[in-house]
Amino acid sequence: MKPVDFTLHRPATTDEAVALLAEHSADVKVLAGGQSLLPLLNFRLARPEHLVDLGRIAALAELRRTRDELVVGAMVVQARAEASPAVAAHAPLLAAAFPNIAHPPIRNRGTVGGSLAHADPAAELPAVARALDAVFVAAGPRGRREIAARDFFRTHLTTDLEADELLVAVRFPRAAPRTGAAFEEVGRRRGDFALVGVAAQVTLDDGLLADVRVCLTGVAPTPYRATEAEELLRGRPPEPAELARAADAVRDTVTPSDDLHATAGYRRDVAGTLLTRAISAACRRAVPEEN
Ligand SMILES: Cc1cc2nc3c(=O)[nH]c(=O)nc-3n(C[C@H](O)[C@H](O)[C@H](O)COP(=O)(O)OP(=O)(O)OC[C@H]3O[C@@H](n4cnc5c(N)ncnc54)[C@H](O)[C@@H]3O)c2cc1C
Repeated sequence: MKPVDFTLHRPATTDEAVALLAEHSADVKVLAGGQSLLPLLNFRLARPEHLVDLGRIAALAELRRTRDELVVGAMVVQARAEASPAVAAHAPLLAAAFPNIAHPPIRNRGTVGGSLAHADPAAELPAVARALDAVFVAAGPRGRREIAARDFFRTHLTTDLEADELLVAVRFPRAAPRTGAAFEEVGRRRGDFALVGVAAQVTLDDGLLADVRVCLTGVAPTPYRATEAEELLRGRPPEPAELARAADAVRDTVTPSDDLHATAGYRRDVAGTLLTRAISAACRRAVPEEN
């Protein structure tokens, strides 16, 4: 199938894009890399009259460091962020997530902002943003505002962004020394959306888990921050018995649904196993402490 007719707008600045969204707010969609939106248009599951393509707005493709944060523009292409030494050094969990997203050709077009704004509960980047307490910057006709990651994801494919708002950038806190991260997931085929995924980042201090951040995909309508596991692990050594307790806590707490691809019971069980693997891998990657 082909999309229904639409008018394509290609603004050169964020202000122009915001003005277009306000003017056509009744029936408009933002176009980023098109890797999720174009299939929806082709199947006519989305039928906007207006498309606002962000591809010409250079300011949205900035990737920069501040003293405390890594700021990723919404239009930074996933493959570029994946290859960025700054991302690897300052947001290791973000770096660990990219290889799990689809295939390289999709990551060459798909953007960081597009994945976050799409808010698929099986997607990797929303879980990373939630684990790291990232801050979302939105622009709209009422000005700019910041949205905490815990408030950004409302439910399946739905965010806090209004129809006339644009995601401009996402700010990730810079990782502390002795931090390691891992993203572990299980899917039916390589490159598919995973059935369950676990994003984990740890900071070690004197052999103990000084900071632990864990967020799961595929077990809830939004990324699931596993605070029960984090609390059990914080201040503890990353030993098998501790990890097993945290894994059991996650299995007891998550309430995934059955679907065509997996039962709820399978997802619950795998969630605990992946949590153990992700935290173990993150600990191995944390910078070894000096003796
Ligand atoms: C075969 C296949 C496999 C895939 N597998 C995975 C996977 O395993 N994991 C995964 O995470 N993703 C996967 N994806 C999706 C891919 O990561 C997309 O790149 C991503 O979801 C959307 O990014 P995009 O830049 O292409 O956005 P688009 O498709 O252009 O937009 C997606 C949605 O977000 C909105 N949007 C985009 N940018 C903004 C913005 N700045 N402000 C406000 N709204 C905005 C659009 O209006 C649209 O509703 C897969 C895609 C395909 C085709």
